[in-house]
Amino acid sequence: MSKPRITPRQFAEIYKRYNANLAKVDCGRKCAPLNKGQPVCCDTDNAIPVVEKAEFELLKSRTDLWFKYKPTDAASRKIVNELTSHACAIECKGAAFCERDNRTIACRSFPFYPYVDKAGNFIGLTYYWDFEDRCWIISNMQVVERAFVDEMVAAFDRIFKLDPEEFETMKDHSATMRRVFSRKKKIIPLIHRDGGYFKIKPGSGGVLTPCTPDDFNKFGPYKSEAAYIRAVKAAGGKLDPAPKKGYLAP
Ligand code: SF4
Ligand code: SF4
Repeated sequence: MSKPRITPRQFAEIYKRYNANLAKVDCGRKCAPLNKGQPVCCDTDNAIPVVEKAEFELLKSRTDLWFKYKPTDAASRKIVNELTSHACAIECKGAAFCERDNRTIACRSFPFYPYVDKAGNFIGLTYYWDFEDRCWIISNMQVVERAFVDEMVAAFDRIFKLDPEEFETMKDHSATMRRVFSRKKKIIPLIHRDGGYFKIKPGSGGVLTPCTPDDFNKFGPYKSEAAYIRAVKAAGGKLDPAPKKGYLAP
């Protein structure tokens, strides 16, 4: 194996400073009823965790929670086959066995990734848009804690310094989002690294417009209580005992 760009020890240091809760609410309770009782981001049918091999080395030295992911169909085989030689796909034992300190960087960050603007600046966080219809957080960005944003930004500042290729990957991903969202005439929601919410309007050339999370769209089953109840029933899921403020409220 070629020399890792970030060593297991450096990953351990990043883990130590990247522990803040994304939100006060347990968001897994919102999405799991739509996904056979499992939080969407903890289920490889929805999201396959991809890590640097050195990160997997670190995890294997600390826990038996993680093992190598075995593709189950053509789509997952394609994902695994297209990984770079530094990366590998892994799977954990499941949400019931989660170990907080042994979550990957991908687990800690989901559904967010570092957004890099056209000029090549890492200016804040936006989300993996493939999950708009499944992740409750994406429709409720007002719940994201400031401490989480600070820690994720610091973690990725460090990762990008150690691994310029990771920066290029996120820069490319951000450019793809701009193309896709422009075509669909959708705004890109952004949590700025220095605080505050912004929207990037399609065709604006990347201009940041200050806004509140109320300006962001809600998606799929998270658009309304009625849509959520319908979707949970269609998925054969179980609704939480009726909460006072409604099923979708934080
Ligand atoms: S981050 Fe999104 S997908 Fe993951 S548990 Fe929370 S709501 Fe579900
Ligand atoms: S380690 Fe925890 S957060 Fe990460 S995929 Fe497994 S159950 Fe989910």
